Amino acid sequence: MLASPRRSTPRTSEMIPAAELPAFQSRLLAWFAGAKRDLDWRRTSDPYHVWISEIMLQQTRVATVLPYYRRFLTQFPSVDALARARPDVVLRYWAGLGYYSRARNLHRAAKEIVAQHEGNFPKRLEEALALPGIGPYTAAAVLSIAYGEPHAVLDGNVARVLARLGAIRGELRQPITWRELADAANALLPAQGTHDAGPGDWNQAMMELGATLCTPRAPQCGGCPVARWCRAHTLGIAGVLPSARKKRQPISLALSAAVLLDARGRTLVLRQKGDHGILFSSLWQFPAIQASRPDARKLARYLQSVFGVSAELQPLPPARHTVTFRKILLAPFLVRVRKLPAPRRSTMGGVRKPVLSELERLPISSATQKIAAAALAALAAS
Ligand code: SF4
Repeated sequence: MLASPRRSTPRTSEMIPAAELPAFQSRLLAWFAGAKRDLDWRRTSDPYHVWISEIMLQQTRVATVLPYYRRFLTQFPSVDALARARPDVVLRYWAGLGYYSRARNLHRAAKEIVAQHEGNFPKRLEEALALPGIGPYTAAAVLSIAYGEPHAVLDGNVARVLARLGAIRGELRQPITWRELADAANALLPAQGTHDAGPGDWNQAMMELGATLCTPRAPQCGGCPVARWCRAHTLGIAGVLPSARKKRQPISLALSAAVLLDARGRTLVLRQKGDHGILFSSLWQFPAIQASRPDARKLARYLQSVFGVSAELQPLPPARHTVTFRKILLAPFLVRVRKLPAPRRSTMGGVRKPVLSELERLPISSATQKIAAAALAALAAS
């Protein structure tokens, strides 16, 4: 039976009958014990390690996260080490993962944990939620996995599994539906002592089911341990649930960037003050302007007004770059100068003049890496 039109989510008692809940939980936990992927962060319950993995995994695939996770923990093996690190160094070990506010919040939270919680990730939900960058999902994940606290996680994977179990239609991210899904997730959480596995295993089992079998496009119901309780499977509508999210319209734009170069092979990179969008985060970047298409004239005017540079702009091969809904055309220009300038305006959060081939020692985005690569390739070919 589908949910009533007024109620987007069936009550949990409707989703899995109470009498069958223990069997449902046992089946899923047994499947997880045998089928779970062997991932670095599953070999530990250290709250710091779990926290780092959960932040890195937000919007990022497991295969991408693995090398970053290992490097990050080698460089910052404890909350103390992370709290003591310079922001630049933290960003450098995050560079390429994207969504850099995650790294900045991680660093701020590490300082707070050292200052207010004696270096230990807090156990209480309200205290965890008060840390920068920690929302309900991350708090529940860290507290359940590291401390065995009974909080159910709700992320995209778990929401999709719940939506199919209950044959829930409509947009899952609607606040009312999301709240009801959170209630449903908590109600499915095994009560303390009813199974050998704890809340952390349960949460990971739900997420693993969503990540490996109950996948967005082609759910593998034939191998699913809980198929007999799944309404969407019974109704033959698993493949069309949940309803597709309304996607934000993609925006196309161009970033014209100047790779200034002096005779010693040094270039100029800067940081903008404040948050100016795509590349204008706190990472080091080439002087650039944003427009609907590559614009050498506008870039030349910018270089003249801010840096006092008037030199020939040599176009380099463009590159494509995507940041969420933004499709960016990177249009690099090589600008040879006798002497690297000092900016005239105080709009910068800082200026550095590294050797171009050593730029990667600074925290830079992958877009800046592409621009630098285009310039280095042109120089090697000339
Ligand atoms: Fe997902 Fe299919 Fe399992 Fe239902 S039976 S939970 S749709 S994999």
